[in-house]
Parts: sequence; structure tokens; C-alpha cells
Amino acid sequence: MREIPVVLIGHQDHGKSTLIGRLILDSGSIRDSRVNEIKQTDEAAGQKFELAHLVDSFRQEREREMTMDTTRALLKGKERNYQLIDVPGHGELISSMLTGASGAEAALLSISIEEGIKEQTKQHLEIAKLLGIEQLGVIVNKMDKVDFKKEAFDEVKEKMKLILNEIGYQDIYFFPISAWEGDNVIKKSNKTPWYEGMTVMDFLESKIKIPDSFENLPLTFLVQDKYSEEGKDILVGLVEAGRISSGQEIMFLPSKQKSKVESIRDSEGEMNKAVAGDNIGITLSDNIGLNRGSVVTLSGSSLKEGSEVSGDIFWITKPSKKDLVLECGTAKVEAELKEPESIEDGSNTNYVILTKEPIVFDPTKRTILGKIVLKDDGKIIAVGNIS
Ligand code: GDP
Repeated sequence: MREIPVVLIGHQDHGKSTLIGRLILDSGSIRDSRVNEIKQTDEAAGQKFELAHLVDSFRQEREREMTMDTTRALLKGKERNYQLIDVPGHGELISSMLTGASGAEAALLSISIEEGIKEQTKQHLEIAKLLGIEQLGVIVNKMDKVDFKKEAFDEVKEKMKLILNEIGYQDIYFFPISAWEGDNVIKKSNKTPWYEGMTVMDFLESKIKIPDSFENLPLTFLVQDKYSEEGKDILVGLVEAGRISSGQEIMFLPSKQKSKVESIRDSEGEMNKAVAGDNIGITLSDNIGLNRGSVVTLSGSSLKEGSEVSGDIFWITKPSKKDLVLECGTAKVEAELKEPESIEDGSNTNYVILTKEPIVFDPTKRTILGKIVLKDDGKIIAVGNIS
């Protein structure tokens, strides 16, 4: 069964991990034995058990395997499952939203009623919007700290609505919850008789739509690497969108070279065709000089290539110089910022940038090739889209 990725966003300590813990615990998505193990570890360390420790334990596992910088927890629904994604910071948030076909499709924004709207609350929203996340729920958490008072909830809700409108989100659902005590997360709370809306779980189950499959979009195969085997080049990468089959005529961008797919394989062996989401290796009828950053498509595709790109961008921090590194899909190129001339931290602007080598982009903005990241000395400083 396909899992729907849902990313948790919001300011530090506003309860993201606790909410994930509460959701997986009350839905029975985690085994009792696992919960007991974590409780015992806490006890042995002289610590009080916290729901967030459920998520921490997944994180530690990942760290041991050194696989990921995000933590994913499986939440079981009635007819479909969700992958709840917890991200430690901006960089990880952006990377997790940028992972194309497997990236987040919905977000839950957590706001602590005690602290209210903070810097990261807004920044995460701006990033989510720029990266194309349209499905959003706003969690007003720690309601137990204000005795579940309606007035406190309404106040944050009204303030937040203005910000959401400014960023471009409309008709967003708000949930007064206590992740800690479990109110309105899976079970409806009797402490909020004034609240007639859904629980967080009902929202996920009834309002989050599975987006159209990337399979029906034009072929976009992102070449990550090339290696040789018995004199033949094998190009490996991810089918970000569309389908590819052996025998098919293909075109490479930005070079516009044409070739024919000879064979397709994945880690299990050879196959006749591959679809969006598949990691594959292909061989061609002729060896052509290609590198990371090349994109395989079909002639007539809507993908474009160019050395001048523009669009909307969110500046996490302002650049220290004009020469930056631009990443788009698997391409990583040196780039010079033309506009805007002056930038403030945490601002949203238009941009124009010249890249040293041409890059391939998706003007429809649907796939990962419609999004860019800018790095300054190896650090992500901005994230944007290409129009
Ligand atoms: P994150 O940094 O956003 O993932 O936040 P955590 O889930 O780690 O929570 C931060 C702190 O807030 C922890 O000490 C939690 O126990 C506490 N917390 C989270 N949710 C609630 C809640 O609903 N009520 C109260 N009183 N505390 C909470």
C-alpha cells in the first residue's frame, strides 16, 4: 500500500515529535512491546517517559544505520497509511520536501499555544508553499497549558489566518489539541465542548488527497551517475516522472543528444519498463558523454534548458556574495545572482540568476526540476521555484 508522506513543520519545541508519538500510539501503529522497551530505557536512564522519545528512538536507529537526516514514522489509517516525517532543521526540511516523487504531499504545522507564532512557524510555511505543498493543517498544541480555553485558541487562529493568507494558503483547518494528553488527536476531547471540528486523524483520513501520479507526466529521468561495464555505459538515476521502456527513443537535456534505450535494470534485475519513483540503471545503443545533472526525456517534452533562470525565492539567510551554487534536481552548478540587489534574512523575493552551465528545468513546476536550492559556502541559504 502506498504511504502518504506528511511532513511536520513548526518552531522548535512546539510539539512535532510529541504529536507523531501520540498519533502512532493511539492509532495502534506501534507495537506495545516497542513502547515498553522505550519506557524501560527511559526508566533505566532515570528519565520520565515522553511521547517524543518514540520518535527519538526511530531517529537513533537511523543514525546507527546512517541512512537519513529525517525520521519517518508509519501511521496506520483505515484504508491507507501515512509516513510522518520529522525534520530537525531547515536544511532537512528542504531536502525532505525536495525528494521529488517521494517528497511530502501534505504538512501539519504545529504551534504551541504557550509561545504562539514564532520565526520558524512563518519560515517553514513560506518554504512549504514555495515547494508546492498545498495541503496543510494547523495544529494549535499544548491546549492543556491554557485550560483548553476557546479564547486562547481563537486568538492564535485569527493571527495565523492573516499570515496564511499573506503566504497564499486559504481555507485551512485548525485543531485545538494537546499532543501530550491526546485531546483531539485521534480521540475527540471532552475538554473542548466548544470545538465542533475534526480530530487530526480524521483530517488526515478525510481531507488529504493523494495527488495525481507522477507516472502520467512527461518522462523525466534524472541521471545521478554513470559507470562502465564491459565497455558499455550504464546511467543510473531516478525516474522522477513518466515512464521509460527498452527500445524507446529518448533525448538528453541540456545537450539535446538522442539515443535509444537498450536495457533497463534495477537492483532486482532486468525489466522492460520503469515508472516514476523507480531507481534504475539504463544502457543505450551508443555511448554518449553525459554527466550528473543530465536529464532523459522524450522529444517534444515540456522541459526547458537555459543559463538564465528566474522565479520566486525564499531567503533563509542573505548571501555573503553574488557567486553561489545552484542545485536543481541532480544538477549542481556555479551561478551568479543578478537580482535582487539587496536581500534581507527571512524574506520572499523574485530572483534572476545566471548559471555557468545550462540547467534543465520544469516550467510547469510540478516536478523537482521546478525547484531550486541556493548554497553559499556549502550551506543552504535559499529555496525557490523556477517559472
Ligand atoms: P518538537 O521540537 O517540535 O518536536 O517538540 P517536542 O515534541 O519535542 O516537544 C517539546 C516539549 O513540549 C516536550 O517537553 C514535550 O513534552 C512538550 N509538549 C509537547 N506537546 C505538549 C502538549 O500538548 N502539552 C504540554 N503540556 N507539553 C507538550
